[in-house]
Amino acid sequence: MGDRREELAAALAEVERRIEDACRAAGRSRSEITLIAVTKTYPASDVRLLAELGVSHAGENRDQEAAAKAAECAGLGLTWHFIGQLQTNKARSVVSYADVVHSVDRPRLVDALSREAVRAGREVDCLIQVALDAVPGGAGRGGAAPHEVPSLAGLVAKAEGLRLRGVMAIAPLGEDPAAAFARLRAVAERVREEHPAADVISAGMSGDIPQAVANGATHLRVGTALLGRRKPFVR
Ligand SMILES: *Cc1c(COP(=O)(O)O)cnc(C)c1O
Repeated sequence: MGDRREELAAALAEVERRIEDACRAAGRSRSEITLIAVTKTYPASDVRLLAELGVSHAGENRDQEAAAKAAECAGLGLTWHFIGQLQTNKARSVVSYADVVHSVDRPRLVDALSREAVRAGREVDCLIQVALDAVPGGAGRGGAAPHEVPSLAGLVAKAEGLRLRGVMAIAPLGEDPAAAFARLRAVAERVREEHPAADVISAGMSGDIPQAVANGATHLRVGTALLGRRKPFVR
């Protein structure tokens, strides 16, 4: 266990260095950026170690795994981010532990999250996931087409139990992430014109931190660079 702590401490220091470099290059302050440790496929013991090392945000993309880990890690004071594609029938479970849902991408999901948040007596922060692919939904990773985002944002803003906080995206494969994140920033600015409090831009993963920071990201979702390469996903 001692080894794992040292491994995670070294990786965290390296990620922090990369974030600071990106901030310096972009003329931004490190304090504008929230680092989310994406802990999917890694055990709760790693989440605990990261929390002890000062990480205060954890991200997960599958409900079952996230629910178990959030329960095991209760009491660590972590903010939990649900970042995966979300089926409406998982809304009740996700709302029970997630503080922020990054993957709101359709009206039916807004309805389900709102209903369950009200039932649970919770206020859940929501980000609209924007599909940046040339063919929206083409990569199967979810997300609303950019032109759908303003109306979806309006639905979240009006929904009981939900708070519209901003937008999220994953850089499409095969394109310069900087160009994709520039489009995300334009979508984010449009949302913020109508909803000034929706100032979150969740962009940037292990491979594209500088491009995300240069294009206004406020939240980085970093898995591999912190925890190591994940085993191939087997269903
Ligand atoms: C897994 C995942 C990440 C983290 O990706 P890395 O490349 O491992 O840093 C970020 N965002 C989402 C939505 C993910 O599913």
